[in-house]
Amino acid sequence: MQKLKHIVDDTIKALEEMKRSGVTHVEVSQATLEELGRKPVVVAAVPAAPTRRTPVAGTAAATPDWAALEAETKKCRKCAELARTRRNVVFGVGNPQAELMFIGEAPGADEDAQGEPFVGRAGQLLTKIIEAMGMKREEVYIANVLKCRPPENRTPLPDETANCLPYLQRQIEMIRPKVIVALGATALRALLDIQIGITKMRGNWYAYHDIPIMPTFHPAYLLRNPPAKKEVWQDMKTVLAKLGREVPKQS
Ligand code: SF4
Repeated sequence: MQKLKHIVDDTIKALEEMKRSGVTHVEVSQATLEELGRKPVVVAAVPAAPTRRTPVAGTAAATPDWAALEAETKKCRKCAELARTRRNVVFGVGNPQAELMFIGEAPGADEDAQGEPFVGRAGQLLTKIIEAMGMKREEVYIANVLKCRPPENRTPLPDETANCLPYLQRQIEMIRPKVIVALGATALRALLDIQIGITKMRGNWYAYHDIPIMPTFHPAYLLRNPPAKKEVWQDMKTVLAKLGREVPKQS
């Protein structure tokens, strides 16, 4: 909040300076005016990725807490329809001490069948993206906002998101990643409680508590719009820089 105040103060100072030097008006686009009229989003107070991760009590994967959370999630029936139609609860996969966490929307048919997130075509594309970043899928952690598949892959309902979000929040608390990548609008909206589209948000840093979030397009969107891969790769390069990692040469 303090940083936001500094930015507002600096902006006011700059505008006053411009006024003193004879500038009589500043052009602002309609889109910007509309954005300013919406719920404010703190985008400036994004922390740098911590150089040393906040200690977590024990190793998340091995702690009773982590096991208890997984067990609790797997027997959850808070969403009656999803609990009735699911084949598996898809808790998450990867390294519970990961520096980097990817968060998507909800399991699809393949994920529901296998009990693992991002294993279908979109998941294979995500794995390629991770590998292009010079990492292995097992090195990162991958989860969804919803742990159960919505029928016909419909968008999660607000009450389903509200029911399931606490599980994801507890996963994030235990993993304490250095960076979160929000894959698509549903993940971003759930974490930041905002309603702005992913196209406007991607490529810029936001924060979930003190953890930087990079929003980018969901791999399923990339399957429908391959040219957008270029923008996602740009975002992933920004993530690598935040993590202090080199961009692999072949990429
Ligand atoms: S989606 Fe989440 S909250 Fe809903 S039943 Fe599944 S695990 Fe429970």
